[in-house]
Amino acid sequence: MNQKMLEKYADVLVKVGVNVQEGDSIQLHSDTESLPLAREIVRLCWRYGAKNVITKISDNDMALAKYDEAKEESLGFFPSFEADYREAMLKEKYHRIFISSPSLDLFADVDQKKIETVQRAALVATQHLDKYMDAGDIKWVGGACPTVRWAKELFPELSEDEALQKLWDTVFKICRVDAKDPVAAWKAHDEVLKLREKWLDEQSFAYLRYEGPGTDLTVYLADQHKWIGGSSDTPDGISYMANIPTEELFTTPHALKVDGTVRSTKPLSVMGKIVEDFGFTFKDGVVVDYEAKKNKEVLDALLGIDEGAKRLGEVALVPDSSPVSRSEILFKTTLYDENASCHFALGSAYAEAVKDGAKLTEEQRIALGSNKSMIHIDFMVGGPELDITGVKKDGTKVPVLSAGEWAFTV
Ligand code: ZN
Ligand code: ZN
Repeated sequence: MNQKMLEKYADVLVKVGVNVQEGDSIQLHSDTESLPLAREIVRLCWRYGAKNVITKISDNDMALAKYDEAKEESLGFFPSFEADYREAMLKEKYHRIFISSPSLDLFADVDQKKIETVQRAALVATQHLDKYMDAGDIKWVGGACPTVRWAKELFPELSEDEALQKLWDTVFKICRVDAKDPVAAWKAHDEVLKLREKWLDEQSFAYLRYEGPGTDLTVYLADQHKWIGGSSDTPDGISYMANIPTEELFTTPHALKVDGTVRSTKPLSVMGKIVEDFGFTFKDGVVVDYEAKKNKEVLDALLGIDEGAKRLGEVALVPDSSPVSRSEILFKTTLYDENASCHFALGSAYAEAVKDGAKLTEEQRIALGSNKSMIHIDFMVGGPELDITGVKKDGTKVPVLSAGEWAFTV
């Protein structure tokens, strides 16, 4: 990978992603594997006039060391001052950049109970902080950094150097970094997503019908649901792109009105493990049955986190011909795979995905059908055999996706 392209990629994350403005304060989360990208991001944040930049660096080997060596009580320990520190930063409106190399199945050999203990401790200690993000005035972006470990997982037949180069080239293409003017390319892409957003909002569907191999599902949408594609806006009108890449249109399902079965179409990397070939059965919005061919215990842990973890918090549409899908690569990380496929999320809904959501209280959003949980985990259900039909309140049926592709033009 050449330095110039790395700088261009960092620029996409900083300018299109979090869209740093003069005087912004920024917190960057990175792992040690992503440091070359992290350094460029920090440089650009300062260049664009950030007031302050704080970095938080994690390391996979150190995380593993904790699982290997730490005493039981230390696994469940999350210092309260850490939550206070995060809260102070949210109050000061630190905008957030997350970059990482995908964890893949990094924790494959770690006892699932230990992972659950560590993650639950952090979730419980920080759940009161969700309201700061729900207010919509903190910008954020997530992006991924190619590494040899990730590249060899995707292209095992290539040498380390070749695999890494191929992954960088793929990421640059998917993230439009190879465009002559990446910022302009993202603006054009955003405009198309916004047209689809407008069309979907105008339909005001009561529910969506999903039909595909192993999938027969009815998903009602929350009252006053709002579709979102591409950029989000802060109350001050500064737009930012929370995921790079992003190809999806998403909204809020009704947490109490989901019925039928749904089959995953891609593996899911979560909690450092990879769950394969799985499916859920819903009744009145709740998961009543589920199975997985590999790592079912991860689903046990996820669904057991809290009541909301058993319900849907996001429905997202992605055509099968999205650039991520066309790469024909299974990235084994949600940030990429969710942009190749229609997906749902178990757990919390986004405040912005109901009308004027940032201005409503949590109770008001819940009354509209919005789900609340400590988790938000996307899983992929799209593919070339999926049909989605929108049904309006008066019973009118409108094809939305047909054989995996958009069934409407804008
Ligand atoms: Zn999504
Ligand atoms: Zn999601």
